[in-house]
Amino acid sequence: MLKRKINTQKRLYVVLLVLGIVFVLLAIPVFWFYYPKIQTEKKSEIAFLDVGQGDAVLIQTPFRQNILIDGGPDGSVIQKLEEELSWWDRKIDLMVLTHPHDDHVAGLIDVIGKFHVAKVLYTGVTHDAPAYLEWLALIKNRHIPLVIIDRPQKIVFGSDCFFDILYPRASYLGVSAANLNNTSIVAKYFCAGQEALLTGDAEIAVEKELAESGADLSARIFKTGHHGSDTSSGEDFVRLVNPEKAIISVGADNKFGHPNLRVIKRLERMGTEVLRTDLAGTVRF
Ligand SMILES: [Zn+2]
Repeated sequence: MLKRKINTQKRLYVVLLVLGIVFVLLAIPVFWFYYPKIQTEKKSEIAFLDVGQGDAVLIQTPFRQNILIDGGPDGSVIQKLEEELSWWDRKIDLMVLTHPHDDHVAGLIDVIGKFHVAKVLYTGVTHDAPAYLEWLALIKNRHIPLVIIDRPQKIVFGSDCFFDILYPRASYLGVSAANLNNTSIVAKYFCAGQEALLTGDAEIAVEKELAESGADLSARIFKTGHHGSDTSSGEDFVRLVNPEKAIISVGADNKFGHPNLRVIKRLERMGTEVLRTDLAGTVRF
C-alpha cells in the first residue's frame, strides 16, 4: 500500500518535471520571437526638459537610443533625465552641444559624471569659459569619442529615424566667433512620424542663411531659437517652419527678459501653440 503511494508520488513528480521542461522549451522561442517586437514598438519621444534658464532636450528613439541636446545651466538636468528614463537606463548614446555657452554646457558636466556617454557632437568653436573647458577636459579624460560637426549631414539612428544637421555650413573648429549663438548646431529630427526643428540659440542671421540654403525647414515641432528672444524666430523663418507647436525653453523671471512677447504673438498669429517650460514644466511629445 505504502509502496504504491510512493510510486504515485514519483509519477506525479515526473509528470510535473516533464511539463516544466516543455513549458521552458516553448517559452524560449516565444520570447525570442516577441521580444524584438516589443522593443521596436517603442515610440519616439522628445522631452524639452525644464532646466530653468537654458536648453536641454532628450530624445528617446524607438531603437532605445537616448540623445541629449544641451544640458542646461546646472546639475538640475540629472533629476529631469531621471524623470524621463527608466531607473536602470544610465546611458546617453549621443550628447550634442549646440554651442558652448554656460546655459547649454554646464549641466552636461554632471551628465558625464552620472551617465555613460557613448559619443559627443560639437562644432569645436573656441571658447574659454570655465564650464566649457571643464566639459572638454572631462570628455578627453574619459576617452569619449568626439565628432566635429562642420557641414550639413545626416546622422542615422535606425530605419526612417535620423538627424538632418542643417547648420553649421562651414567649420568652426578652432575659430573665435564674435557671436557664439550663431555657431549653434541646427538639426531637424525625423522619426516615427515625429519631426522637430532644434535651433539652439541661432539668431536671425543664421535663420536667413538657412532660408537661403533652400533646406526644408518645415516642422511640426519647433524649439524656438535663443529662449524665445527677439534675436531669433524672425517672421520669414517661422513662416517657413510653420510649426504646430513651438517650445520656448526658459527660466521663470530670468534676468534677460526672455521670452519676447512679440515672438510669442508672431507664433500665435500663425495658429502655433506656444509651450513654455517655465509655465508648463517639461514639455513632452
Ligand atoms: Zn542659451
